[in-house]
Amino acid sequence: MCKLCVNALATKENFYKKNCSPSPNCPICHDRIEPVKHMLFECDWTRAVWFSSSLTLIPPSPGTSSVLQWLDTRIAATTSKKESSYLISGFAFVAWSIWTARNKFVFEHNLVCPLLIIKSASQAQSEFLSLLNSSCLESLSSVINYPSQWIPPPVLSVKFNCDGTFKRGSASIGVVRRNSDGSLINGLGCKVNVISSLQSELLAIRKAYMIITQQRIAHSIVESDCKVVVHLLQSDNAPPWDSAVVIEDIRFMASVSSISFSFVARSGNRAAH
Ligand SMILES: [Zn+2]
Repeated sequence: MCKLCVNALATKENFYKKNCSPSPNCPICHDRIEPVKHMLFECDWTRAVWFSSSLTLIPPSPGTSSVLQWLDTRIAATTSKKESSYLISGFAFVAWSIWTARNKFVFEHNLVCPLLIIKSASQAQSEFLSLLNSSCLESLSSVINYPSQWIPPPVLSVKFNCDGTFKRGSASIGVVRRNSDGSLINGLGCKVNVISSLQSELLAIRKAYMIITQQRIAHSIVESDCKVVVHLLQSDNAPPWDSAVVIEDIRFMASVSSISFSFVARSGNRAAH
């Protein structure tokens, strides 16, 4: 964490500046230069990790001078000491897990599934808090039940948070399922062939509806942070021709299942856009 905060991690960009690497580009996506912010927040693989996390962190904006400054801002926005402890320890374990998994890929060419990273980070955080103070387990439970942004579903219900991206001709979707205590049940992420961000958002939502319908999940909530899509699905207007089939699929599944669908603020839907 200290090295991260003072930009002393051996990222490709830092190595390149010291003539220790032939390229400053990210070893995973090969697409962008790899400063700390890209390694930790902006790489597609990293974004999938944060999306699976219950921390719902908003990544640093381009104007943020350092990760430390950004983290200070996030801590200041918490409403209790318990919440800030959970945020700091959660951030530290996820960041550490991303860094070690990134290095594993560099040296062993084995890219770990984002969901496995979140599970191991969550487990490590729980163990850390329980060792630190026996009362921390209670604190952790409290924070998970009442997070500042993401709202857990009612008891016996599950919530699906959906997201779709479309960038430089490449699109992907992510769907994460959590239960009423905020625990990650499972999730998925995959590439899709679409021509717009609207279509990718819709495919993510349809995927959630398909899971709910196929698995006959009784009480479920689906959330998207795309206002346009929410408006489209909740209105009776004719959908755009290039999205009509997917929208009709979703509307049909909604009509035969008890699914609550709603908009959620971007900060509550995912950690790293
Ligand atoms: Zn990358």
